[in-house]
This record gives sequence, structure tokens and C-alpha cells, in this order.
Amino acid sequence: MRLKPVVLAILIAGCALIGLIFWWINRSIEDQRLGELREDLHNQAALLSSVFDSHSPDVDRLVDDIAEHLRCRITVIGENGKVVGDSDFSGEQLAALENHANRTEIIKAKQAGWGDRIRYSPSLKTWLMYSAVRLRHSDGFVRVAVTAPHRAILAPPLRLPLAVLLLGAALAAGVMYLMITRTVGEPRSKLERWMDQIAEGESSSAPPIYSGEELGPIRRSISNLTEEVGERMRRLQAEADYLKAVLASMPEGVMITETNGRINRINPAFLEIFAVDRDPIGRTVVEVVRNPILEDSLRQVLSRKETTNRQVEIKVEERVLLARFSRLEKAGDVLGAVVVFHDITRLRRLENVRKEFVSNLSHEFRTPLTSIRGYAETLVDEPCESAAHKDFLPKIQKNAEQLSQMIEELFKLASLEAGGERLEKRVVSFDSLAAELREEFGPRLQSKSIELVTEAEPEAKSLLAHEAYLRRILHNLVDNAVKYTQRGTVKITAGRSGNEVVVAVSDTGTGIPAEDLHRIFERFYRVEKDRSRGTGGSGIGLALVKHLVQVQGGRVWAESKLGQGSRFYFSLPADENTDQQ
Ligand code: ADP
Repeated sequence: MRLKPVVLAILIAGCALIGLIFWWINRSIEDQRLGELREDLHNQAALLSSVFDSHSPDVDRLVDDIAEHLRCRITVIGENGKVVGDSDFSGEQLAALENHANRTEIIKAKQAGWGDRIRYSPSLKTWLMYSAVRLRHSDGFVRVAVTAPHRAILAPPLRLPLAVLLLGAALAAGVMYLMITRTVGEPRSKLERWMDQIAEGESSSAPPIYSGEELGPIRRSISNLTEEVGERMRRLQAEADYLKAVLASMPEGVMITETNGRINRINPAFLEIFAVDRDPIGRTVVEVVRNPILEDSLRQVLSRKETTNRQVEIKVEERVLLARFSRLEKAGDVLGAVVVFHDITRLRRLENVRKEFVSNLSHEFRTPLTSIRGYAETLVDEPCESAAHKDFLPKIQKNAEQLSQMIEELFKLASLEAGGERLEKRVVSFDSLAAELREEFGPRLQSKSIELVTEAEPEAKSLLAHEAYLRRILHNLVDNAVKYTQRGTVKITAGRSGNEVVVAVSDTGTGIPAEDLHRIFERFYRVEKDRSRGTGGSGIGLALVKHLVQVQGGRVWAESKLGQGSRFYFSLPADENTDQQ
């Protein structure tokens, strides 16, 4: 609370109280004065009531004589209200005077023998105090009147004391104000200036107030508070500097945004990657980066439409960037998002080189391999004497075939990766596929005493797929199952799961160690190099399966127990026209 208004309010209230007291005293004095006057007037009227006779012809003259001595107005009024004598009017004028029967003092006197009143006299045009008394010796009334005294606003004897008191109050208020300003106001101003300095970051030792002063007791609290605040500020600053240093040391571009999508923090790498020339803080992402994919992804992440993390690939000039989005959340509230930009230009370039190389290589190998296989086949059919020829030619033929199959798969993989191939899906019958596989693998199954079981739920009897791809997928999976199984069963099943059809190929073969299971779909990955070589494996079959399933919108996964067998699953989006049962 400010001091000046308080002191002023006290001063006004004090003066008002003094005024009220004086008004009340003045009023009492005035009331007493009027009461005394009224008493005097009544006594005079009572005295005169024995003197006048309303029927006497000399009454008006007698009235004039007595009024001259008493210095007041005397009126004698008949019972009917007619004025028969009046000291202020001559005998001739009396007849023209108004009837006085309705005058208040006369009405009162008629009822009680006596009545008085202060009122304006229309006959004399002035305020008069009247006192009327019934005549003693005849009917009628005598009325005495004097000019009514003005009520003084302030009786003269009260004026000096009031002035002295008001002056005293003003002086007391002034002294009080000075004292309060000295004891509280000045230290407070000093304290304010000191706090401003602290807020501006100037370090100051102790608050400029002393224990003896009015504000002394709060000195220690202020001291503790400023120390605590200072310590927290230093800690916050250190943390901010640390974060800044971490961000500055990162080769990846980092951008932190608020919930409204405005940039809150960036690091130097971000400025370099996006060649930002103006300060991006406080601006929206689209203003700074001008990339609709980025803007859209950020909106999705901030609006919770997306799970916490998202990553997109964007191109900035010649660079390829992988942008990873993370939503910042605290106790369920979204605070903003962090976007980290990884430069993957080199990685993508190398990948393209590799893809191109594999594609070219497999293409170039196809022709010479076909010739080798052709010549080998011709020579095998030719009669020959040499044991070496007999021994080597079938091996040359077998290896050439394996190489050819491998090149074929590599080529297929490369063309799938390159994309652009039209995907034409149609409904394929599970049973006819099963029959084809049974026929194709029949001799191998027989030679190894493996039973082939095929089973499809009614709603998975028809599969919507690219026919050739589906054939290839099943061929590779069954080929592996037969390859890695010595005896037992190979089972192909199909069933509906939600809006997918899931096909599983299981066997009772060697199984796959748990540590290899997650890598078997990688290109060229083989569990045991020697084992695969012995079985003619190349490590491409499952990678191709994975691609062929993925281009059709499906997924692949596997389960296995070493020594007991494996189960490979793949899913395909279900045919919408097939009723789910
Ligand atoms: P490969 O031509 O060597 O079979 P794949 O890509 O088809 O190549 O398979 C990768 C590896 O996964 C194989 O080398 C093999 O070790 C393992 N594998 C695949 N299918 C089976 C299976 N049914 N049983 C056991 N191991 C398997």
C-alpha cells in the first residue's frame, strides 16, 4: 500500500470527524438559542393576553403603543380569524389583511390555548417567529412575532477552536507522513533500486537495510531469497550452456519446436544444412525450411496422430537427409518436438552403387553362364571314355545350375529394389499351388522320406497375389524346408487373421540358432557357411522372399527351435471380396 494516499485518507477522515463534532455542537447551541427566544415570545404573548380585548374599538391603537415599547410585532385576531389590531399595519389597512384563522400558530392556540411557529410572513415578506395565546378576557388571540434569527453555520465562539484543531490535524498528518517516509519509504526505495540491480544481473552483497530500521526484520529473509534465486539462476545458466555445447558439438542438425510448431532452439549444424541466413527462432518450420513433408510430419507428431517417433527422408539441394521426429511429452502433455537431421547422402550413394553393381553383374553373368550350362549339358550327353570327364562334367553342370539360379535371384532382387515393375494381383488357388509344389518336390521328398502336408482354412483357399511372386515365395520356402530336413514332415498351411491371409511353411529339420534367427532374411546371410555350401545355398533365397512379400504389402517372420524344426510365415492382404467367416 502506498503511504501518501493512506496519510491523506487519515487526514481527510480526521478533518471530517472534527467537522462533524463541531456541527453537532453548533446545532445544540442554535437549538438552545431558538428555544430561549421561543420561551421569551411565549411569555410576552401570555402577558399581553390579559391586556387586550378583541371587541374593544381601541385595540389597534393599544397594540401600536405596546409594540413600540416591546420592539416586536403584535397582532390581535378575533375568534373568526379576522385581524382587529396589528402593530405593522394601520387601521385602514387591517380590513385588507388576509383572514388568519388558518395560520398554524392560531390553529394550535385554538386547540391548546398556545401555539408557535417559524414561517415566512407573506404580509411582511420576511421569516418571523410567531407565538399566539388565547385572550384572557375576551374571545380571540394575541400573537407576538419577531424576526426569526438565522441559524448560524458556525457560531462565532466555535470558529477559532475549529480552525486550531484543523490546523493541528494537518500538522499531525504531515509529521506522521514525514516519519513514515523516513522509517519505511526511504528504505523501501533503496530496496527497490537494489532489487532492480539484481534483476539486471548486477551482483550485490547484502540488502541495503539495517536491522535497527523498520524493515530490519525482513532483511535476513530477503538475503536468503536472493542467494537462493542467484544459485538457481547460476545452475540454470550452467545447464543451458551445457545443452548449447552438446548441441553445438553434434554433426547432425537439431531443431526443437514448441507445440505451435514454432522453432525454439536449433544448433549450428542445422543452420549449415539448411543454409539459413535469418534467425529462425520463433518462426515456423515452413518459413525456415520450406519443405512440405517436414511440415506435415511435424504436424502429425505434435497432434499425436503419429506414435512418438517418425522418420522421413527429405532432399535438400544435393543432400539426402533422414529426419527423425520425437515428441516431447511431460505427464501426458505435449511440450513440443525434437527433429534430428542425419546426413545420409553418402550412404544412399553407396547403396545405389551397390545395387547398380549387383544388377549389372548379374546381367553380365547370365549369358556366359547359359553357354556354360548348354555346353556342359551337351558334353554330358556325349559318349566319353575319360573317367575324369565322367566325374567332372556332372559337377560342372550342377555348379553352373546353382550359379545360374543364384544369378537369377540376385537379378530379381535388384530389379525389385529398382522398383517400377507393375504389380498385377489376381486370385490364386491354394490347392493348385499345393499340387504344383507336390509335383515339383515329389522326387526329393520321396528320396528323403519327407511327408508333405498342405492345409488351408476355407477362407484362405483363394489368395490374392502376384501369381509368379507367390509361386517363387513358396518355392524358396519349401526348397529350404526340404533342404534342411532329413526326415519328417514339411507342412504348408494357410489361414485368415484379421484382414490378412497368413501362410506358414514348417518343417521338422535342423532348426536355426536363436542368435541367427533375426538375420536370416538379410542378403547373403547363412547360418553355417559350410552347411549352406554343402546344401547348395547362397543366402539370397530368404532375402528375395522378403522383398517379394513386401512389394505385395505383406510381412515375413520366422520361428525356430534348434534340432526340432522351423516355421516360416508370410502374410498377404486378404481379398476384400472373400467373406470373412
Ligand atoms: P540359402 O540359399 O543358403 O538357403 P536362404 O536365404 O534361403 O539361403 O536362407 C538363409 C539361411 O537360413 C540358410 O543358409 C539357412 O542357414 C537358414 N535357413 C533357411 N531356411 C531354413 C530351414 N527351413 N531350416 C533351417 N535353416 C534354414
